[in-house]
Amino acid sequence: MTRLLTEADGSPVAVENAEAPSPVLLVCEHASRRLPEKMGSLGLSPEALVSHIAWDPGALAVSQLLVKSLDAALIYQRFSRLVYDCNRPPDAEAAMPPVSEVFEIPGNAAISAAERLARTEALYVPFTDALSGFIATRKAHGRLPAMVTMHTFTPIYHGRKRDVEIGILHDEDSRLADAMLAAAGKTTRYAVRRNEPYGPADGVTHTLIKHGLKNGLLNVMIEIRNDLVSDEIGQRVMADYLTGLLGESLAALSQ
Ligand SMILES: [Zn+2]
Repeated sequence: MTRLLTEADGSPVAVENAEAPSPVLLVCEHASRRLPEKMGSLGLSPEALVSHIAWDPGALAVSQLLVKSLDAALIYQRFSRLVYDCNRPPDAEAAMPPVSEVFEIPGNAAISAAERLARTEALYVPFTDALSGFIATRKAHGRLPAMVTMHTFTPIYHGRKRDVEIGILHDEDSRLADAMLAAAGKTTRYAVRRNEPYGPADGVTHTLIKHGLKNGLLNVMIEIRNDLVSDEIGQRVMADYLTGLLGESLAALSQ
């Protein structure tokens, strides 16, 4: 089997502030729209390659602001979800989707078993291993992380405008999500909703289940409408808001 990533591509996983004092572990599966050299353009137009189907615009920028404001750790995937969506298990079609929203992805139309394996081993395995390793190290030191996965969503999906501005998503363990929704409910600043615009039935809680629930961690997935974080000012305003929301929620849970 040929290796997917070249030396010039570099590591598939980035870790920031690993020794951070905060319990918060930020995770960003859809941080980048970068494609490995060998993948070419997957047959997509330049517009599609910069659109939300390739990545979560603004998610990494907000995450990196939270690294500073919370003094938290961050683990993110350095390549596009078009090649492998790290919030999906290898047996899910959505891990290497042939269609995303209204875009067909020619390079994903007929992927051989060998290529599926190559993509999985190049992008997913190192990513999920990095999360497992980080959590195991923290656990060994008696410090359970609180896992917060960071995402953005497109304001218009299949031609429909979405009113929700921030989604607080959870699977079976809703402790952190409940605390965040309670804190968010004290103001009307944003339209903050539970399990919108996606929820567990859409298969989006893979990372939460695999790393959060299985380890008994407080865990939540945050979905931000990407028009709110399309520039630096929007990203700062959102990061300030989430810093307050997470701080208040984790304090309430530790009482
Ligand atoms: Zn995402």
